[in-house]
Amino acid sequence: MDLIDKFREIVGERATAAPAERLCYSSDASMVKGMPDCVVRPMSTEEVSKVVVLAAELGVPVTARGAGTGLAGGAVPLRGGIVLDLSGMNRILEVDLANLAVVVEPGVVQARLNDRLKPHGFFFPPDPGSSSFCTIGGLIANNGSGMRCVKYGTTKNYVLDLEVVLADGRVMRTGSRTLKSAAGYDLTRLFIGSEGTLGIITKAILRMTPLPKARRLVIASFDDAEEAGRVVAKTFASGIVPSACEILDRTTIAVLKRCDPGLALPDGDIILFEVDGTEQSTAESAQEIASVCSPTAAQVVTASGEAEMEEIWAARRLVGAAVSRLDPTKSRIYVGEDVGVPIKKIPALIQEVSEISGRFSLPAMKYGHIGDGNLHVALFIDVLDEDEWGRLTSAADAIHRAAIRLGGTVSSEHGIGAARAEYVVEQLGEETLSVMKAIKRALDPEGILNPGKLGLDDDGPSSGGEG
Ligand SMILES: Cc1cc2nc3c(=O)[nH]c(=O)nc-3n(C[C@H](O)[C@H](O)[C@H](O)COP(=O)(O)OP(=O)(O)OC[C@H]3O[C@@H](n4cnc5c(N)ncnc54)[C@H](O)[C@@H]3O)c2cc1C
Repeated sequence: MDLIDKFREIVGERATAAPAERLCYSSDASMVKGMPDCVVRPMSTEEVSKVVVLAAELGVPVTARGAGTGLAGGAVPLRGGIVLDLSGMNRILEVDLANLAVVVEPGVVQARLNDRLKPHGFFFPPDPGSSSFCTIGGLIANNGSGMRCVKYGTTKNYVLDLEVVLADGRVMRTGSRTLKSAAGYDLTRLFIGSEGTLGIITKAILRMTPLPKARRLVIASFDDAEEAGRVVAKTFASGIVPSACEILDRTTIAVLKRCDPGLALPDGDIILFEVDGTEQSTAESAQEIASVCSPTAAQVVTASGEAEMEEIWAARRLVGAAVSRLDPTKSRIYVGEDVGVPIKKIPALIQEVSEISGRFSLPAMKYGHIGDGNLHVALFIDVLDEDEWGRLTSAADAIHRAAIRLGGTVSSEHGIGAARAEYVVEQLGEETLSVMKAIKRALDPEGILNPGKLGLDDDGPSSGGEG
């Protein structure tokens, strides 16, 4: 019996080995590639468990996948085997207002969850640029975040309980519906950010939070990006915590204006500070931020109209796509795109990135969640030029090492996956990596769950994975 027939006994026609389908699952939004032997689309925890048990018996790798929007190759089956597509398990099972809790399956798309919560006056704050298409399972597995975590925290701050299928098919729970629990190891946190290497998340109880009543946006432009970075540190040090704090450098602004010449943003290197709360508190905070920025800013303006703010945030969300307008002969390659440093080191990181871009003669755009110390660097090359590929790799490596040297991280939110696995030991150290490996061995002794990721394993089961 073929591999595919065995999985069809569990999920019927929702298992496929058609070459075109396999190809669709051989990449995510990163450069990493790996071909699965088959794709299985479970619709229940029971099916996930049976699939994992069978995969363990056969010794084939299992790679969980949400929407495949990851930027580190996390959902790419590097060693073949099966891709477990969880996007069909997409029900919002319960909205429990009194307990501030919402129960979801892993395939729920982030924005759909917020559409459902909004009429109740609540939201789930992690707000990635990919919110219209990424799944809650992918967000949890990557500990993703986005624009609002400067005030509200990342995904890990909103997970109360997980249902997880382990590598031997057992189903376990990690927490409870209570808002706090001091019972035992925090296994919920263990699975958050584990990138599908420790278990398959099949259900989550998330904490939701009330929507703020008012928002305001302070837009400050500067003559250089480093000064823009310094102002972020000054704002924090004066006791103001914005609900979002984003940087858009002058090249990013120029490209956005190419897409929408009417966009209401000044030229220059810009910081967007959003504050939320009540009418009065946002007016006060906006005034305080303007006072911190004014001495060194070229211009400071405040927006409070919903339509104007929405237009600016919509433009911010478009940056990832708009960058392609920089130069039609060059493509943006997602490498070195997610570094982060302590807030005080932001100006130093901006300076290093500019120096690296000059040293390797590669155009670089800088944007991102600077209030978390998180800088997205967009590097561009002519993909037909081998020399530019070489310089790109060296530039990305230099950016990663600069972040580590500055006491930061090679990934603030997109995860390690395969793309950044080589930096894990340099960032975390041998001791930490050996503890991570011990946890992996304890929960997945045969190494069938998402092998080749997080710098955890040098070998493991393989059934191909040719890209
Ligand atoms: C345009 C764009 C903008 C983006 N902006 C942001 C941003 O602002 N912030 C941010 O954090 N990320 C951002 N991302 C990256 C990406 O959207 C996030 O990493 C997101 O969390 C991935 O979700 P997904 O459903 O696509 O997961 P996938 O890419 O399918 O998987 C990601 C990882 O999670 C694992 N996984 C998925 N589901 C499960 C499950 N049920 N159980 C166990 N493991 C699982 C996979 O094995 C993989 O390791 C962006 C991506 C794009 C393309």
